[in-house]
Amino acid sequence: MTPEQAVELADLVASIRASVEDAAARFAVVAAGALNLPEVAASPERHEEVAPPSTDEQASIEARLAAAACERCPLARGRRRVVTAEGPHQARLVVVGPPTTFADERDGASMSGEPAVMFEKMLTAVVGVPRDEVVVVPAVMCRPPDGRAPTPSEAAACRPMVMAQVVAARPSAVLVFGEAANAALFGPEPPLKRVRGLWRELEGCPSVATWSPHECLRTPALKRETFEDLVKLKGAVAGP
Ligand code: SF4
Repeated sequence: MTPEQAVELADLVASIRASVEDAAARFAVVAAGALNLPEVAASPERHEEVAPPSTDEQASIEARLAAAACERCPLARGRRRVVTAEGPHQARLVVVGPPTTFADERDGASMSGEPAVMFEKMLTAVVGVPRDEVVVVPAVMCRPPDGRAPTPSEAAACRPMVMAQVVAARPSAVLVFGEAANAALFGPEPPLKRVRGLWRELEGCPSVATWSPHECLRTPALKRETFEDLVKLKGAVAGP
């Protein structure tokens, strides 16, 4: 090998090493973001900058990790991913949304697309809480095949995994969004149209159920009732 070739080889090795370190750092950030975990450092220097989670945060992290690995019902077989709770680990408001759809699974977030736009407007304009301060979790976290609704037994299997994440967030109030989420948490009777807007206790948390953005988009006449119900949450989740 000539001296020139040796220099070229050394440059190549240095370049590959830098690329690998950069990719590892970016992977750590992406992986942490996917589960809302504290960022995992890729180097000893960065590791020292990450504060350990509090006990409350730890409970939330563990509940989300358990949900991400859940195989309690047959929906685990056909899923591409579990859409777990997203948002901060502690929040004044937790939203339990409709069961996971194909678009939610693809985007890795509950209430994606047009419903997400309406959802954000509802939160900021009516409840007065920014979207990034709210925890959102679907009532059934794995997408059923062929666009069908989850069965009652699938919803029942998912309920404890969902509620573990809800309770871990220590919310002032829970918003239950839509007929399917209401049935998954409280049972199919009475239907949502009879209980919407009522304060009900949900494993120690005060909750209100109303129509989801999906239902409001399908039936615009429901928007007025939804607005009335969301206003009730405003006082319960008002900031200090
Ligand atoms: S739908 Fe819920 S209970 Fe069923 S495997 Fe997914 S996370 Fe587990």
